[in-house]
Amino acid sequence: MMNRRRFLCTSAAAAAMFARVPSAFAATYDVVIRGGRVIDPSVGLDAIRDVAIAGGKIAAVEANITGDATETIDARGKIVAPGLIDIHTHAGRTKEGPPLALQDGVTGWVDAGSGGADNIDQIAAVARGAPQIGRALVNIARTGVAPGGELMDINRANVALAQGAIARNRDIVVGVKARMSNNVAGTNDLEALRRAQEAAAPFNMPVMIHVGQNYSPMRAILPLLKRGDIVTHMYAPAPNGILDEKGQLFPDVTAARRRGIIFDFGNGVADHFDWATVEKATKQGFWPDTFSTDWNVMSKTTGVVDFPNVMSKFLMFGMPLMQLIACATVNAARVFPAFDDRGTLNVGAPADVAVLELRDGTHEFLDNYKGTRSGRQRLFPIATVLAGKQAPRA
Ligand SMILES: [Zn+2]
Repeated sequence: MMNRRRFLCTSAAAAAMFARVPSAFAATYDVVIRGGRVIDPSVGLDAIRDVAIAGGKIAAVEANITGDATETIDARGKIVAPGLIDIHTHAGRTKEGPPLALQDGVTGWVDAGSGGADNIDQIAAVARGAPQIGRALVNIARTGVAPGGELMDINRANVALAQGAIARNRDIVVGVKARMSNNVAGTNDLEALRRAQEAAAPFNMPVMIHVGQNYSPMRAILPLLKRGDIVTHMYAPAPNGILDEKGQLFPDVTAARRRGIIFDFGNGVADHFDWATVEKATKQGFWPDTFSTDWNVMSKTTGVVDFPNVMSKFLMFGMPLMQLIACATVNAARVFPAFDDRGTLNVGAPADVAVLELRDGTHEFLDNYKGTRSGRQRLFPIATVLAGKQAPRA
């Protein structure tokens, strides 16, 4: 967090300096994104601006930028946001995943536990070859995600093997994942989490837990989490979710947030959220810190569709656009130090940009229980700029 703050201050100073350059020298840019509604929650900006890019970095964010550009993107009527960061995906499973995610505006992703000690090296290889920044969480179970539940046999949660996997992939692995639902871990949930913490400790890394119908209640799980750890599938329905039988948030859950535990949406496909839980929790002010899709290459045909579609579900529940984009950009960037200079359109930051369109109409959204709800607005991915270059459309 300290690093990030220093970065933001430095960038602000740089912004003041750079601001005069275009008019004085009629600078030449690689790309100018013209006339969009720029929403950059990292600086609280929501205004019509041009975004100029040079050398793969953001060079200026101003009204009516003059100077030549090799390439111009007309963003009038569109939203121009920092590139989206998806902290719970399975994009590392195949090399086809990352370029597909890029089409959805995702310029940074975390593969959350597809691989364990036995197979993380393949995931890491996909991440290294990805067009955008890709990182991975190593599953505490040596098999990674496995049919029948990778933690049913607790011996698979081998601390030494997980630490070895981290040590040989320090450039890619940014944390440890434990899937704790009853159909993955059975009665082993708490022991699996203890081992995940033990594996992460010497590397000072966060642990992400996947919750949902766990054997153990939240009041037993949450005390095992430290500041900066992540709870994904935060709106998983009972048993043992974040709400009591009367639909009230457990005080342990809000207390966990206050001490720095991050709550992530994690759309996914089965058992991870229903509309009723989202509605009850958000009415009590319990919104996600980050969105994530739990994406894989099949997600186009599920209720996930794409990251902007997942974000739009919270527009339907009334989350303001600034906060919505924060959850998908700067908030996500702050979870892992690897994304320290991402999730922002600050001058000097890598030029990762998502151009989105907010379309009015009747849009149907799906939960994980075949429940549909209609919203009046949906965000669509229009164009992605990665390191200053527009990604080709499929
Ligand atoms: Zn997942």
